[in-house]
Amino acid sequence: MDDCIFCRIVEGKLPASVVCRDDLCMAFMDIHPVNAGHVLIIPTDHVAFLADLEEDTGAHLFRLAQRIAAVLPKCVSQCEGINMFLADGEAAGQEVFHLHLHVFPRYRGDQFGFLWSSSISHIPERNELDNVAGTIRRAMDL
Ligand code: AMP
Ligand code: ZN
Repeated sequence: MDDCIFCRIVEGKLPASVVCRDDLCMAFMDIHPVNAGHVLIIPTDHVAFLADLEEDTGAHLFRLAQRIAAVLPKCVSQCEGINMFLADGEAAGQEVFHLHLHVFPRYRGDQFGFLWSSSISHIPERNELDNVAGTIRRAMDL
C-alpha cells in the first residue's frame, strides 16, 4: 500500500522510533503522543479494519500490548495507569487506515479524557441488555 503511512514505516521508507517488530507486528512511538511513552502497535501486513484482521494476529498484537503496558510504568516518569485505544472506522475516530492499537500512559491531571455527553444518561432495563447480549451471541455463532 503505497499511500499508507504505516506500510511505509514497515518498509523503512518513513522514519519511526521502533520499540520492537517480528513476523506479525510492529510497535513504534506515536509522533503526537497523548503522554510520553505513547506506543502504536500495528500488524505488519496492511489491514485497515478489525474485521480484516486474522484472529491470531490480533491475539499476538494484544500480547505485545500487554507486555508493553507492563513495562511502561518503569520507562517513563509519569505513568499511574494505562489506556489502550483502537479506533475502528472513521465514525470511531480512525484517522490512519492501517489498524493500530494505541497504548499510552495516564496520570492524574493529564490532559486526556473521554468525553461522555450529559445526554448519555440512559440506564437500560435488564431485558434490553439481555436482548442485545443474545443478539450479539447469536451473531457470533456461539
Ligand atoms: P487514529 O486516530 O487512531 O487513527 O490515530 C492515528 C495516530 O497515528 C495518531 O495518534 C497520530 O499521531 C499517529 N501518527 C500519524 N502519523 C504517524 C507517524 N508517521 N509516525 C507515528 N505516529 C503517527
Ligand atoms: Zn498500511
